[in-house]
Amino acid sequence: MRKLLSVVVSVYNEEQALPAFYQEIKPVLDGLSWDYELLFVNDGSLDGSLEIVSQLAEKDQQVKVIGLSRNFGHEAAMIAGMDFAVGDGIVCMDADLQHPVTCLPEIVGRLEEGFGVITMTRTRNVSAGLVKNVTSRAFYWLINTLSDVKFESNASDFFAVSRQAADVLRKNYRERVRFLRGYVQNIGFRKTSIPYEASERVAGESKYSIRKLFAFSINTILCFSNLPLKLGIYAGLLAALSGAAVLVYTLCTRQGAPSGYATIVILNCFMFAVLFLIVGIMGEYIAILFSELKDRPIYIVEELKNVDSHEIV
Ligand code: UDP
Ligand code: MG
Repeated sequence: MRKLLSVVVSVYNEEQALPAFYQEIKPVLDGLSWDYELLFVNDGSLDGSLEIVSQLAEKDQQVKVIGLSRNFGHEAAMIAGMDFAVGDGIVCMDADLQHPVTCLPEIVGRLEEGFGVITMTRTRNVSAGLVKNVTSRAFYWLINTLSDVKFESNASDFFAVSRQAADVLRKNYRERVRFLRGYVQNIGFRKTSIPYEASERVAGESKYSIRKLFAFSINTILCFSNLPLKLGIYAGLLAALSGAAVLVYTLCTRQGAPSGYATIVILNCFMFAVLFLIVGIMGEYIAILFSELKDRPIYIVEELKNVDSHEIV
């Protein structure tokens, strides 16, 4: 029996890119040695994206649509797609043609060789500006320094996993605050990577603003590292040591401390700044705990097209 490839495409306000995307991917999919299903996850688009993918699903049975009830974010959309994918291999990709569809035959080849995780590594990102490239590097440096798991800096959210690896992601990585790309790289299995050149987005605009990326980076650091929590201990030790040093100095020299109003005020401000910062960091962790505890759904499905009914998570 022929194997099945599931291609998961997250869609948020992509009405301009979708027709070109479908036109490009369809012949590639038809030429594969595997059967395929093309799952569009509509992540609460505000434009005509849902109509476009629904029309595609009507005339093409291999196109499936998972319509989410609102915008849940790119990662949630990918998770939804993976949950509904029934293939022996699953590819996640963007709808804007930044992830070249011509890589699909090679991906299928690697899946056939028995690889469980196939990371697509960007060799060049034409459309990301200097700011995005620099901040992205800084982010990976920081997360690799702070956390004991290692992240590949060129890995993108273009990746493929075998059914076995996908099952692990589906069952065990259902965190509310998450970094899917990081999980994919850290679940083990036989791994390989394929380089690709990210091209210009075919139409429309990037949905990730610098602000969104910043929030995303902070969450990722908090979710992969406990080190920020330990800052309090280090700051406490440092303050205690400095205090002890001043005490010893004062006792030994038998001089009264210099009467500096400014010194006291500045030290006070500094100490409180450190204290509040640490309280803030703890607050962030508590917020993550709280959202995990509430156990709200990662996504909510509103409608399905060409998809067998399935237990909705
Ligand atoms: N996307 C999504 N939900 C969102 C934001 C983006 O499903 O809230 C989709 C978007 O339609 C695209 C992919 O995620 O297919 C990547 O987004 P984008 O191209 O804007 O990001 P960039 O490539 O600029 O990092
Ligand atoms: Mg893009």
